[in-house]
Amino acid sequence: MSAQRTIVIVGAGFSGTLVAANLLKAQHWSATQIVLIERAAKIARGTAYAERSYPYLLNVPASRMSADPNSPLDFLNFAQHRIPDATAEDFLPRELYGQYLEATLLDAEVSAATHVEFKRVKGDVCGIEPAEQAGYRVVLADGRQFDADDVVLALGNPGPADLPGTDKLGDQYISNPWAGPQNFTAGETVLLVGTGLTMADVAMAASAETKDEITIHAMSRHGLIPPSQTQFSQNTCKVDSGSILRAASFSALTLLRSVRELADDTERRGGDWRETITFIRNIAPQLWQRLPAREKRRLLRHIRPYWDIHRHRLPSQTLARMNHLRRHQKLNVHAGRLLEFELVPAGQADDDAMPATARQMADNTADRQRPGAALKVRVTWRPRGSDQPQTMLVDRVVNCTGPDYNIRRSEDPLMRSLMSQGLAVADPLNLGIRTGAYGALINAQGQAARNLFYVGPMLRADHWEATAAQELRGYAERLASYLSAPVGRMRAVASA
Ligand SMILES: Cc1cc2nc3c(=O)[nH]c(=O)nc-3n(C[C@H](O)[C@H](O)[C@H](O)COP(=O)(O)OP(=O)(O)OC[C@H]3O[C@@H](n4cnc5c(N)ncnc54)[C@H](O)[C@@H]3O)c2cc1C
Repeated sequence: MSAQRTIVIVGAGFSGTLVAANLLKAQHWSATQIVLIERAAKIARGTAYAERSYPYLLNVPASRMSADPNSPLDFLNFAQHRIPDATAEDFLPRELYGQYLEATLLDAEVSAATHVEFKRVKGDVCGIEPAEQAGYRVVLADGRQFDADDVVLALGNPGPADLPGTDKLGDQYISNPWAGPQNFTAGETVLLVGTGLTMADVAMAASAETKDEITIHAMSRHGLIPPSQTQFSQNTCKVDSGSILRAASFSALTLLRSVRELADDTERRGGDWRETITFIRNIAPQLWQRLPAREKRRLLRHIRPYWDIHRHRLPSQTLARMNHLRRHQKLNVHAGRLLEFELVPAGQADDDAMPATARQMADNTADRQRPGAALKVRVTWRPRGSDQPQTMLVDRVVNCTGPDYNIRRSEDPLMRSLMSQGLAVADPLNLGIRTGAYGALINAQGQAARNLFYVGPMLRADHWEATAAQELRGYAERLASYLSAPVGRMRAVASA
């Protein structure tokens, strides 16, 4: 290794950008090179804050989206240069947030010390191998390689798991709504599988693109829709965190009861149940780590849908718009279980499912407006609480079930490479990657890596809450300050 220390960050979405920005602002004790590698055309965007044809809104008010915990109104101040009447409680465009992240990185780059060099690299990392002396070799798909003393993986969310039986649907199935434009057309009927925030995003974009000339069905096991955000202050929910932590050591059910009581008590005293959720979020990593393994499983199985729905909320204007669509039967929400997807020729939709050659025959129809338009998807499903299957006919199915954190199923070359070398392991509950202090990867022998780190939503395996900007900025900041500490001294202290 040269005298210059090199830190390679793979992925320049929210987390990678903030690790880089914090590293650039930190004090470094020796010459340091920071290399930020991103495969997308734009840096500092990731999936959430990319430029898209529909102006998606943040689902968190501007006052809670600062990239810098020491300056809570940083994002708002940035936004007000473009939208002068923006307020702290506004839900601003996600694309604007992407511009803010870009500007944050640029500011940090400009302020970096002269012995800190910053390189932005466009490329797709397909492998990371231990180097001969120390550190790692980072390999890109185009053959370029970077030697690194430290590597930070900030790869973002994996795509959703494919829905069983959708492989035969061809263009009439969208496996990941964030992978590209969906191009909704007026008159179509779509099924959105999932009823959380992604469903809300897709429903908003679909109704806007078609000027409400679309019929949307949304389905999940429980049919729960996220509630709205409100302007609450964290004043009423007062509790000793020790009692909640003790409940978690006992069982998932005891924890649930304690949280419910706390929410009821908060409301009785004039507060908002959302305060309780914020309180629990703040101690979620400790709660999660205290729950016995069997209770973690129970929580995932029975409580998670209710936690997720209260935890991930919608801007009130989005919910109002969804309610409007629901009143006009443009958005129909169902609770149930999907049983089967079949392709059937349009016009004969009530006949038996189409034979194998039907797609080919239908594709020859001259007046199709889009691929597969002469075909319908017959969806068989069973409403919750019923044993009678029902069917519905739709033009397309969109998978809005959210990320699949079971990395054993990952087809991403980098993830596969890390796992096949035993450098990364899946956590037993399929929530992501196993990590130790500061996100150090735990290897197949159960040891924490000294120079290979992960930051991003898959930290949920060990910390439970690691989704929103508010949590991820903290993980990014702590990792950057650890990496910029003098090697040896501080690291030895930290790992003691
Ligand atoms: C649609 C959406 C909306 C959200 N809205 C909000 C919100 O309003 N408020 C909030 O607090 N949170 C929100 N979140 C949650 C949170 O902010 C994001 O999940 C966060 O952006 C995650 O950051 P990340 O860096 O881990 O992933 P990303 O920002 O997605 O970045 C990962 C980056 O890594 C790159 N990459 C991956 N693999 C490689 C590779 N092998 N080589 C090179 N580059 C690679 C990707 O191209 C990508 O740019 C939202 C999330 C989503 C998905």
